[in-house]
Amino acid sequence: MTALVIAEHDHATVKPATLNTVTAALACGGDVHVLVAGANAAEAGKAAAQIVGVAKVIVADSPSLAENLAENVAAQVLAIAGNYSHILFPSTANGKNVAPRVAAKLDVAQISDITLVVSPDTFERPIYAGNAIATVQSTDATKVITVRTTGFDAAASTGGSATVETAEGVADSGKSSFVGREVTKSDRPELTAAKIIVSGGRALGSAEKFTEVMTPLADKLNAGLGASRAAVDAGYAPNDWQVGQTGKIVAPQLYIACGISGAIQHLAGMKDSKVIVAINKDEEAPIFSVADYGLVADLFTAVPELVKAL
Ligand SMILES: Cc1cc2nc3c(=O)[nH]c(=O)nc-3n(C[C@H](O)[C@H](O)[C@H](O)COP(=O)(O)OP(=O)(O)OC[C@H]3O[C@@H](n4cnc5c(N)ncnc54)[C@H](O)[C@@H]3O)c2cc1C
Repeated sequence: MTALVIAEHDHATVKPATLNTVTAALACGGDVHVLVAGANAAEAGKAAAQIVGVAKVIVADSPSLAENLAENVAAQVLAIAGNYSHILFPSTANGKNVAPRVAAKLDVAQISDITLVVSPDTFERPIYAGNAIATVQSTDATKVITVRTTGFDAAASTGGSATVETAEGVADSGKSSFVGREVTKSDRPELTAAKIIVSGGRALGSAEKFTEVMTPLADKLNAGLGASRAAVDAGYAPNDWQVGQTGKIVAPQLYIACGISGAIQHLAGMKDSKVIVAINKDEEAPIFSVADYGLVADLFTAVPELVKAL
């Protein structure tokens, strides 16, 4: 029994989501291999070989894999899928783009968004926006799994000594082509990797106020900036800051929610944070039911005071 983890990487380094996925793969009970499918990705392969618990890294290098096109990455996974009992992807935009293609081609049911490995064929996954946990058992020969990264600790990124093999990269499928990519440039930590997140809600009232009040706090704490869907829908914050059921799932060390009521769809994205601080002027706000520290206060006074105190 051997599990294959599909690395999330930028060809030079391995992204943190891979580390949590390795932990999930180790829990499946057998050896763990990592596939680095990229172009000129030897450095990412070396980085993957350092991950503690990984026995082998397979680097598939091909120009067809330079832009992470899902059709080509799926073909690369399928080229070696026969050797594996489990194929695990982080539940990221990339992972969720490739995993269903692999599952369909293997004619197996994908097991989505697992948060616990009960046994090699049985897994837990949240349903109904995290309000219930389903235990699912798969009888498929190959388990194709996406891993909710906040459910598993990160494997240590250094200290391992996996062997590194190369595999022939697949040819371009010709089904899609890379046209361009617009990447938001930010000095802030990426939300799903940030250790601290400060998040603002509808109470901020405008994009200008959101920036004026929330940015200094994020700057002081070197935090990622998040938002509720109401704040995003109202145009106070960009779409990629949304935390929740239809946004990003995060579990930082510290999550500070300012003027966020705590709707279940928001809680679904952040309730696994280690320490939750809520600032809300309504003492009945549901966010206080998950908060470790709650401050009933007007955020327009409390947040600047907090910034000053820091
Ligand atoms: C299918 C579906 C998916 C969804 N997905 C998401 C999602 O991914 N993420 C998400 O966030 N939401 C999601 N929602 C929306 C969710 O139901 C809520 O509408 C949303 O989270 C509310 O955002 P909010 O807390 O900012 O606003 P509100 O609920 O309006 O809360 C604002 C809060 O600010 C407080 N407040 C007001 N003024 C101040 C002040 N001056 N100082 C301090 N506190 C103040 C109020 O007391 C209130 O608690 C989804 C909804 C649906 C139906």
